[in-house]
Amino acid sequence: MATVAEIFKTMEYGPAPESDKEALAWIAKHEGTFGHYIGGAWTRPAKTFDAINPATSKVLARLADGTTDDVDAAVAAARKALPAWKALSPHARARHLYAIARGVQKHSRLLAVLESMDNGKSIRETRDIDVPLVARHFYHHAGWAQLLDTEFAGYEAIGVVGQIIPWNFPLLMLAWKIAPALAGGNTVVLKPAEFTPLTAMAFAEIVHEAGLPPGVVNLVNGHGETGAAIVDHPDVDKIAFTGSTEVGRIIRKATAGSGKKLSLELGGKSPFIVYDDADLDSVVEGVVDAIWFNQGQVCCAGSRLLVQEGVAERLVAKLRARMEKLRLGSPLDKAVDMGAIVAPVQLERIRELVQQGMDEGATMWQPSWSCPTEGCFYPPTLFTDVQPASILAQVEIFGPVLVTMTFRTPEESVALANNTPYGLAASVWTESINLALDIAPKIKAGVVWVNSTNLFDAAAGFGGYRESGFGREGGREGMWEYVKRAPRPASRAKPPAARPTPAPRPAADALPPIDRTPKLFIAGKQARPDGAYTRRIVSPGGVQLGEAPEGNRKDIRNAVEAAHAAKGWGRATGHNRAQILYYIAENLSVRADEFASRINAMTGCGAKASRQEVEASISRLFTYGAWADKYDGAVHSVPIRGVAIAMNEPIGVIGIACDDRYPLLGMLSLVAPAVAMGNTTIVIPSQPHPLAATDFYGVLETSDLPAGVINIVTGDKDALAKVLAEHDDVEAVWYFGARDGVKAVELASASNMKRTWATWDDRDWLDRDAGEGREFLRAATHIKNIWVPYGE
Ligand code: NDP
Repeated sequence: MATVAEIFKTMEYGPAPESDKEALAWIAKHEGTFGHYIGGAWTRPAKTFDAINPATSKVLARLADGTTDDVDAAVAAARKALPAWKALSPHARARHLYAIARGVQKHSRLLAVLESMDNGKSIRETRDIDVPLVARHFYHHAGWAQLLDTEFAGYEAIGVVGQIIPWNFPLLMLAWKIAPALAGGNTVVLKPAEFTPLTAMAFAEIVHEAGLPPGVVNLVNGHGETGAAIVDHPDVDKIAFTGSTEVGRIIRKATAGSGKKLSLELGGKSPFIVYDDADLDSVVEGVVDAIWFNQGQVCCAGSRLLVQEGVAERLVAKLRARMEKLRLGSPLDKAVDMGAIVAPVQLERIRELVQQGMDEGATMWQPSWSCPTEGCFYPPTLFTDVQPASILAQVEIFGPVLVTMTFRTPEESVALANNTPYGLAASVWTESINLALDIAPKIKAGVVWVNSTNLFDAAAGFGGYRESGFGREGGREGMWEYVKRAPRPASRAKPPAARPTPAPRPAADALPPIDRTPKLFIAGKQARPDGAYTRRIVSPGGVQLGEAPEGNRKDIRNAVEAAHAAKGWGRATGHNRAQILYYIAENLSVRADEFASRINAMTGCGAKASRQEVEASISRLFTYGAWADKYDGAVHSVPIRGVAIAMNEPIGVIGIACDDRYPLLGMLSLVAPAVAMGNTTIVIPSQPHPLAATDFYGVLETSDLPAGVINIVTGDKDALAKVLAEHDDVEAVWYFGARDGVKAVELASASNMKRTWATWDDRDWLDRDAGEGREFLRAATHIKNIWVPYGE
C-alpha cells in the first residue's frame, strides 16, 4: 500500500468514471431514435443517420436526416409562430427564457453526460464549462428580453432565423444562437451538427417542458445539405452560422442579394503571445487551456505559441514536462484532461496536417505515454522549428496541436500575430500592464485575453473579423444581430422624390464655358484618372453641366493604397477628428449657396430642397464631430475578478458607394461617421450627380484633413463598388443602391470575408432618425473585447 508521502510525490490517482446510466436510459426512452422537433412536436423519422460515441465507436442513437420538405415544414412552423411570439410583452418573453435557463440547470447532469458521450469532450469540461455557460446565456438573455423595448427602442425582431452550428460546443453554440434570437422576438430553425445532435434533442424536451409556444424553436437534424436548405430558404430572414471559413464563404455567396441578414463565426489561428517577463508557470497552465481544452477543437484555440526568444527554451522545457503529466482517456472519467476527437474524419485530418508539418521540416514532440487504441484519440502535440509561412502556422488544424515560433521585439510579435487571414482571438502574457494594453489594440482579433485564455461569458461579445467572420455573440453587441430597425411611420418612410425641372439653358450670346473637367481625389490631391474617359453630367432637362472622370480599377487601387497609408488617422484622438469635421462643416457653409445651386442644377429638386440638403449636410458633419469623442465602449459585467473592456475600434479601410439621389447629403451621411470613428475611405459618389462631390475636393483641401483619409473616385458606381468588394486590402464595403449592386458587392466580398453593409432600402437622409446616429457608428466600428483579470 502506498504511503501518503509517496502519493504526494507521484500524484497518482485512479479512474473516477461518471455514470452513463441516466443518459442511456434517456436515449432508450426515445427508443434510440429521434425525429425533428417541428412546431412543438416530434416528427417520425424516415431516413436516419447515426450518432456515434467517438470514445467507443459505439452507436448512441439514430436521427432523422432532414430533407428540404422537413426544412420547409420547420420554416413554416417558425413563420406561423412569429406574430404571436413577437407580440408577446418583453416581460412574457423574459419569463420563457428564464424557464429555459431553469430547465437547463435542472437537467444539467444529463446534458453534461450526453454531451461528453456524443462529442468526446471530457465530463469536467461539459459539467463545469459548457452546461453552466448554457444556463448563464439563457439567464442573461432573459434580461435582454425584459429590457428589449427600452434598450433597443426603435428596433424589432428580424423574423424567422435560420441557425447552423458545429460540433465542437454543441449545446453551448445552440444557446449562443437561440437565446439572443428569442430575446429579440424572433423564431428559430436550427440545425445541430451531424456529429453531435443529442443535447439539442434533450434541449427540445426542455423547451417543451418549459411551455415555449409551438414553432418558436424548431430543430432539424441532418447534414450539410440540410443546412444549405435552411440557408437557401426564401422565407428565412436571417442566417447565423458557426463553423468553418470554407462553409461560411459558401453561405456568404448563397445569401448575396437575398436581403437576409448574416452573422458568421468562423475559424481562427489564434496567437498566444508570451513576453519574457511573463510568469512562465501560469503560461504553461494557460497553454493547456488554450490548445488542449476540448482537444484543441476550439475556433479560438491558442494554436500559435509566439514566445520571446530569451524564454523560449525554458518555456518549451516546462511545457514538455507538463504534457507528460496530462491525462487522456475516457471522456466520462472525471480525472482526465483530454477526451476523444469528435470523429474519425477529424482524426484523419489532424494526422494529415501533422504529417505535412513534419514533411516541411518542423520538429514534432509528443509525450511518452500512449493513447487508448480504441476510439478517436490523439495526443497533445508540440511543434518547434516552425516557419511562419508553413502549413502548421497558417491552417486551422482543429486538434491538440501547438506550433511554436519565436520573436525578438514586441513589434515583431504583433507582426507575427497578425500574419494570418483570421482575426478571432489572442492571448497576451506579460507582467507589464503597459505592454499588454499597448499590444492588445494592435492585434487584429475580436477578443484579446490578457494573462488568461478562453474566457467566455454571456455578457461579453465574442466574434472576430477578417476570415473569422463578422457579428458578435453575447452581450449588448450580440443582440444587435437579432434586431432590425422598425419601419418608420408612413409619413416619413419615403424621401420626397426629386422633382426634375429643366435647368435654364445658357443665353444665346453667352461666351462658351472654359472646359473644366474635375479629376479624382486621391491621397489629398486632385489626381488625373488612369483612363482618359469622362462621363457627361447633365441636368434633368438635358443641359450638360460638366464632365466627371470615369474612374477604373487602377484608380481604385491607388485610392486603396492612399487610404492604407493614412491609417494613422485611426490613432488620432476623437477630439482631433472632431475638430476636422467641424472645420469641413465650416468651409462647406461658406460655400453653401454654390453647393445648393449645383445640387439644384443636377437633380432639379428646386432651390428650397437643395438648400435644405446643404444645411442638413452641415448639420450631419456636426453630428459626427459631436460623436467623434463620445461613442464610448463599455466595461462588461463578467463573472471574473477583472474587467472585460469592450473597445470600439475603427474597421480600417472602408469602401463607400453612395446613394444616388442626394449628391451631397447621401455622401456625407456615410463618410462622416466612417471618418469620425477613425476609418479611412474610398468614396464612390452619386453616379448621375457626382459634381457636388468633385466640388467638395476644394472643401477638403482647405480643412486640414490628412491626405488619404477621404479619397473620391467618380464613375460607374456598381463596377467600382465591385472592385472595392473584391479588393483584399479593403476591410468593409458600404453600398447604397440597387438590388443587383447589393448582390454583386456581397458576392465579391466573400473573397476576404469583408464586412458589408449593402442595401437597396429607401432611406430618407433628411430625417435625422433615419439618416444618422448609432446605427452608422456601429457599422463603422468593430468591438474588441479585452479581458484583463486582476489580483495576485
Ligand atoms: P463545417 O463548417 O462544415 O460545419 C458546420 C455546420 O455547417 C455543420 O452543422 C454542417 O453540417 C453545416 N454545413 C456544412 N455544409 C454546409 C452548407 N453548404 N450549407 C449550410 N450548412 C452546412 O465544419 P465541419 O464540421 O465539417 O468541420 C470542418 C473543419 O471546420 C474543422 O476541421 C475545423 O477546422 C473547422 N471548424 C471550425 C469551427 C469553428 O467554430 N470555427 C467549428 C467546426 C469546425 P454537418 O454537421 O452535416 O457537416
